[in-house]
Amino acid sequence: MHDRKSSSQAPIVSTMPDASTEETYPARHDRPYIYHNFTNSLCPKCLKVIQAKIILQNNKVYMLKTCPEHGAMRTLISSDAAYYLSQSQYNKPGTLPRHFQTPVELGCPLDCGLCTDHEQHTCLALVEITEACNLRCPTCFADSDVGRFYSLEEVERMLDTVVENEGYADVVQLWRTHRQRRGFCTQPQHLQGQF
Ligand code: SF4
Ligand SMILES: [Zn+2]
Repeated sequence: MHDRKSSSQAPIVSTMPDASTEETYPARHDRPYIYHNFTNSLCPKCLKVIQAKIILQNNKVYMLKTCPEHGAMRTLISSDAAYYLSQSQYNKPGTLPRHFQTPVELGCPLDCGLCTDHEQHTCLALVEITEACNLRCPTCFADSDVGRFYSLEEVERMLDTVVENEGYADVVQLWRTHRQRRGFCTQPQHLQGQF
């Protein structure tokens, strides 16, 4: 039979090293960052979906992630951790678009989209009018391999999709226009009356 009294009085064995054994235990150290969150990300080399820790270090925010093929990497996602953390106070319920384009099948980010899992409607639609990028525009925030130019009909279809999803679009940014697509100026006419 179980003896409560004797088990509650069992001696507590200390695992703390005493002074005589201190040298055999290495000192504990803190990690050089604060763990903040966990998410899915992509390997920038092979685009495989991999898990990522979001960490705070030296008032910056980074993702730590490891691709089985391309190894460990650290990616800066904000240069101001205080500002990054303060933004959550402005979170609100997401606004649904009028229409989603794809179902959820493989999980984010492989179902783009917008798939029905997406939390927010399109506040700012980025419409690329070419895949060909010379990486020379000083204000660009993305890159791409040299690819082909989209036809005017393809770009118009993209704009129609934005309107189908949103009913009307708040902001549309046509980009990669500066060097590659000078003279590609008929889209504003296509947009008239839809925004
Ligand atoms: S549409 Fe949004 S939720 Fe869906 S896969 Fe793309 S990023 Fe993820
Ligand atoms: Zn990889």
